[in-house]
Amino acid sequence: MNGRKLSGAESRAEPGEASLVTELIHSNSPSARAAGLLNPPVHRASTITYDTVEDYIDRHTRIYDEVIYGLYGTETTLALEAAIAKLERGYRTVVTSSGTAAIALALSAFLKNGDHVLVIDTAYRSTRRFCDEILSGAGVEVSYFPPDAANGIEAYIRPNTRAILLETPGSLTFEMADIGAIALVARAREIVTILDNTWATPLFFRPIEHGVDVSIAAATKYLSGHSDVMLGAMTAASPEIFRRLKDAARQWGNCVGPDECYLVHRGLRTLDVRLERHQRNAMSLIAWLQKQPEVRRVLYPALADDPGYSIWTRDFAGASGLFGVLLDPLSTAEVSVLFNNLSFFKLGASWGGFESLMVPAWPPPVRSCMKVDEGYLIRVHAGLESSDDLIADLELAFARLRHRSTRE
Ligand SMILES: *Cc1c(COP(=O)(O)O)cnc(C)c1O
Repeated sequence: MNGRKLSGAESRAEPGEASLVTELIHSNSPSARAAGLLNPPVHRASTITYDTVEDYIDRHTRIYDEVIYGLYGTETTLALEAAIAKLERGYRTVVTSSGTAAIALALSAFLKNGDHVLVIDTAYRSTRRFCDEILSGAGVEVSYFPPDAANGIEAYIRPNTRAILLETPGSLTFEMADIGAIALVARAREIVTILDNTWATPLFFRPIEHGVDVSIAAATKYLSGHSDVMLGAMTAASPEIFRRLKDAARQWGNCVGPDECYLVHRGLRTLDVRLERHQRNAMSLIAWLQKQPEVRRVLYPALADDPGYSIWTRDFAGASGLFGVLLDPLSTAEVSVLFNNLSFFKLGASWGGFESLMVPAWPPPVRSCMKVDEGYLIRVHAGLESSDDLIADLELAFARLRHRSTRE
């Protein structure tokens, strides 16, 4: 197993600038700072009023920079967007009502009837569904490419390719993609690249530093960290990309409540320390799981024998708490024994919170141009509990599974 990397938090944009972790701790809004408060205020608004008729008449010219209507966000929204943009080392961020909305809006900002979008085969299920159902229905051609394409991506590009949708590591199966190589090919052809970076968070991987145009976060997961809020973020590499994202968000009527923004901003303060613990717990669980005879393979790019290890170690500053485990095939009854006897691991899909989760990869991963290994695939999220308690929980469940198998 790889010696673990602890965090990308010490990274600095420029020598002499504050590190990411310090920026996270100190990010605030101008009015809160002036009032001596450490957190941005929760500003609720629909109508915004203006001092003069001149200000009112040209308010739309200031839509990208100022608070002009509740739909486009208040100071609470702008403070969170600025904090995420810094973390991503991007130009600016637009927050969205969910991670799913961020992906849908980012794609619809750049694609129209007659265009082609290339999608990584390991993309999150809802992303595939949006492409196959909504984009296809709107006359956009959709095709998939394998995550190991690297600069071989050339072969998948068509004359009308306008966007490439990436996600690394892959959803459920955790394959790594060479983002720098793909982004280089895309930039040369003026194809927009959009990367779903939810697994790593910008503390462990910053897509924009690797040539990507839009970095997506389902802030519902690690950025918020407490399983109680839905929010997404699209961070742009440049002013032109930012305007496209902001226009798509407002024209589709995307709106995020100030409480959601406040909660995610609060979650960011502890992102670094939480991720450190998620990573440590994941490594402890994996070390135990790898010794169990039922385990065929653990799918986690931070393991030295993982196919994605060389890319991970080159590009990423750490690994988060989510990984796959490929088990020997299980009968329906064995699945019940394994999952229904856990007490600390909960059965739930949305990971990135403080709690540990263990779920079957069901329905199984959908892939268009690659195959999924045989066996029973499960997905584990290592939460923030004591790893000894988590391992004791697994020991009991696996013992019950074995006991049952010997009786059959
Ligand atoms: C959860 C998730 C999403 C969707 O985010 P929501 O906020 O649940 O809509 C998108 N991409 C990835 C990789 C996710 O894990």
